[in-house]
Amino acid sequence: MNLFSYKFYSKEEIEQKAYEVFKIMELENFPPKWPFEASCAADALGIMVSWERIPPDEQGSIVAKILPLQRKIVLNECISELTGGFEQSTIAHEIGHWILHVNQNEADGLTEQLELNLGMKDATKLYLCRTTGVKTNPNIIQSHLDKIEWQAQYFASCLLMPKEILEAKQRGRNLTNWKHLYAMKEELGVTISNLINRLQDLGWIFIPKGSKQIYPGKAAPNGQTNLFNR
Ligand SMILES: [Zn+2]
Repeated sequence: MNLFSYKFYSKEEIEQKAYEVFKIMELENFPPKWPFEASCAADALGIMVSWERIPPDEQGSIVAKILPLQRKIVLNECISELTGGFEQSTIAHEIGHWILHVNQNEADGLTEQLELNLGMKDATKLYLCRTTGVKTNPNIIQSHLDKIEWQAQYFASCLLMPKEILEAKQRGRNLTNWKHLYAMKEELGVTISNLINRLQDLGWIFIPKGSKQIYPGKAAPNGQTNLFNR
């Protein structure tokens, strides 16, 4: 059994995992509120968040990593942009790896076995989260690794921007107006690109590639649902 594994998750399943984290936060007395503090989710899950120096490797800068056996997320203190919405989405992304990719029974039960140390060595190699835009060498792109990163990032956007919260924040606003989107991103504590990606993914807006023009999406927000009654 490996410390990390990949499996297919539908978007709905990943979203459901984010709701499960909200429930744990309620139970552990870190009730979720927005702007979302991803470190509170980490606290509720018993994961430490620590700032340390992570040296770049041969593929470039590393933003953060997760050390499952230590239940620790390490953020790279050398990356000055790692604040605000970028910091939130990075912590949420690493929590996504913890929830979706770490075999938690292994991480909890076994702490001193050599095989696991070896496993972790491989794992830390794989689970270094890079600055966005730094592409891995195309010759060694592993499709699972790409999917794992996609899943963690999708989880992060569900955690930081649940549909119900977005519905509430967009009321009385025009999603095709940049000023309104900037106001929303402030209230949500995310980056503008996090917000736009999420809204496009939900089909609420559409921005043609290379354009600044925002069009309304086909799937408009529909009615109210309750965050905790799912
Ligand atoms: Zn990652």
